[in-house]
Amino acid sequence: MDQTEQQDDDYGYNLFPERNSGKFQKGSIAESLFTFNHKCQVMLQFAMETSPYAKLLLGAMKSSGCAVYKDRHFSCEDCDGTVSGGFDATSSQIVLCQNNIHQQSHMNRVVTHELIHAFDHCRAHVDWFNNFKHLACSEIRAANLSGDCSFHNEVSRFNFGLKKHHQECVRGRALRSILAVRKVSREEAEKVVNEVFDTCFNDHAPFGRIPHDKKDAKFAYRDFENRDRAVPKLVFEGYMMPVKLISRLKGGDTFPRGTPPLYSAMWT
Ligand SMILES: [Zn+2]
Repeated sequence: MDQTEQQDDDYGYNLFPERNSGKFQKGSIAESLFTFNHKCQVMLQFAMETSPYAKLLLGAMKSSGCAVYKDRHFSCEDCDGTVSGGFDATSSQIVLCQNNIHQQSHMNRVVTHELIHAFDHCRAHVDWFNNFKHLACSEIRAANLSGDCSFHNEVSRFNFGLKKHHQECVRGRALRSILAVRKVSREEAEKVVNEVFDTCFNDHAPFGRIPHDKKDAKFAYRDFENRDRAVPKLVFEGYMMPVKLISRLKGGDTFPRGTPPLYSAMWT
């Protein structure tokens, strides 16, 4: 990516109109919006309390020095037609697209997907903007570990070898997420995804395995709870440099970063 492209790239912010102004404009719109917002909050709360995927990630982040608080680190907003969620590295906030998430299972997947980005952001020095490999790596991990591809496995079980299909699904989703938020050619995105695929596909932190379904995730969560209180390995297999997990911002309630804006979009 050259300098000019970087300047023109809006890093996916156009997908999240409520963020364009920098401040949320809530309140004056329709009552239905309030209903959507309320429903989104309720589903988020439920995901945080009951999804083994979310619970494991929240626990792992807490023990890495990045405790996640519902009101501080999540925001239910209206987004563009197709996007479900995003991670805003500037504010250390996960955006949940209240107008596009209508089912609890979908909410669970989006929360998990975005928490994986937040986890990566917390544990490693992710250069979301200048190092394309970092973005690709986190998108591969999010697609692989969030269950994004498990549903597809269910549907396509009879058409593909299960393992191979899962990999292809992860590859395709990572590619789509990157193309949604970066102005790069498909060829360039494919090249980078291929370069880091094996390493990042095999990086299962903090799950320790690919959680193909809720049962896998429950086992992973149980193992996490029972493990020694060791800090998780702060490596991204050489793709990302570890950082000291110290909050630079006031209050200590934010993730220990202060990077430029990023949205990593997840598609339905
Ligand atoms: Zn993503």
